[in-house]
Amino acid sequence: MRKKIVAGNWKMNLTRDEAQALTKSLAQRLKEKATLNQRVLICPPSIHLSDAIASAGPDGPLEVGAQNMHQADSGAYTGELSGAMLLSHGIRTVLVGHSERRAYFHEDNHLLKQKVDAALGQGIEVVYCFGELLEERQGATHFEVVATQLKQALFHLTADQWSSIVLAYEPVWAIGTGVTASPEQAQEMHAFIRQTVAAHYGDACAQNVSILYGGSVKPNNAAEIFGKPDVDGGLIGGAALKADDFMAIVNAAG
Ligand code: PEP
Repeated sequence: MRKKIVAGNWKMNLTRDEAQALTKSLAQRLKEKATLNQRVLICPPSIHLSDAIASAGPDGPLEVGAQNMHQADSGAYTGELSGAMLLSHGIRTVLVGHSERRAYFHEDNHLLKQKVDAALGQGIEVVYCFGELLEERQGATHFEVVATQLKQALFHLTADQWSSIVLAYEPVWAIGTGVTASPEQAQEMHAFIRQTVAAHYGDACAQNVSILYGGSVKPNNAAEIFGKPDVDGGLIGGAALKADDFMAIVNAAG
């Protein structure tokens, strides 16, 4: 059965002390929660990952993931990090395909397919991020764009490998803009994504994959979006940088 997941993407924010304080506060608050029917993940900048793992503890309720990794196992790729390096620090989840990586670092679906393979090859879970641009939605090509993003990067995988895939639908026009997809728009696209996975892999696989929504999720809109049947939690940017806001969103997920 698929799980609700709330994941925070800190992007290139927070100094070491700030990151430590936020991680410790979240770890403490999650430990105090009586029941936790969901997974909670933070993705700090890579330089803070070791600190975060140390503060969160290896098997605590707060999971730590990376924002990116390189597709090669090792080599002359200055400034990059491999899956083996992440794993050696206890990182077992990585974001792949965030719209900022696609836009600013020219990562396309074919490169992302290689990153997915490299991560899964190391036993690292992938949170695959994808979603349409504003002009694609306005031009009514958003379903086609999203289907292509799924097929080109993920549909070579075996059904078994899908147990290590989480999907994060993030319409680019909603990321960091304060404009959120309506709960109905989110549900419509999440249902389409699940149907697209079901058509290729069968219903069991599609029902088991968690599909997160990302794009200006805040404490005041999270419950309504997460209440939709095909929305299994969220990938949170700006609101993940404040413990109170992030915990309010975690609580809205149930
Ligand atoms: C994101 O970067 O994945 C994101 C959803 O950002 P924000 O919540 O700030 O829109």
